[in-house]
Amino acid sequence: MILPVKIYGSEVLRRKALPVEDFDGNLKKLVEDMAETMYKAPGIGLAAPQVGVSKRVFVADISTPDKKDKLYVLVNPEIVEFSEEKDKFEEGCLSIPGIYEDVVRPVAIKVKAQNLEGEDFTLSVEGLLARCFQHEIDHLNGILFVDRVSGFRKKLLKGKLKRNFGIVY
Ligand SMILES: [Zn+2]
Repeated sequence: MILPVKIYGSEVLRRKALPVEDFDGNLKKLVEDMAETMYKAPGIGLAAPQVGVSKRVFVADISTPDKKDKLYVLVNPEIVEFSEEKDKFEEGCLSIPGIYEDVVRPVAIKVKAQNLEGEDFTLSVEGLLARCFQHEIDHLNGILFVDRVSGFRKKLLKGKLKRNFGIVY
């Protein structure tokens, strides 16, 4: 089932999401719906708060027609290591349509999470996938990529957000 995506200005996007405690059918259904919603959009990642569910879970898939990856499902993710090296890349967000800005982030991370069965796993990722994971984990903490834009762009961006969404929050 495709779920409606919460848009910039929505309170749930600013809330710190709660840990998932029940690894049950409801969680599986939520993740299934989130994946369907992400693929339909299309997007490369979607966090539960973006569909109005304040829980610590996200889905991601950076596959392109030339390069197949896979669907990642991370429950209660936690970044345990960041690379010192950072890079800058243009990001967008399904919750902030029409806005694209360069964001500086570490190029590689190590993340600890649980799967749908509640089993722990650790993943080391880099490049676009590392960026995507960091963007989605930010969502679980009420942080949006526009918060990470700095310098002179920040002022221009605030004007644009105000015009497009009628709010800056
Ligand atoms: Zn986003």
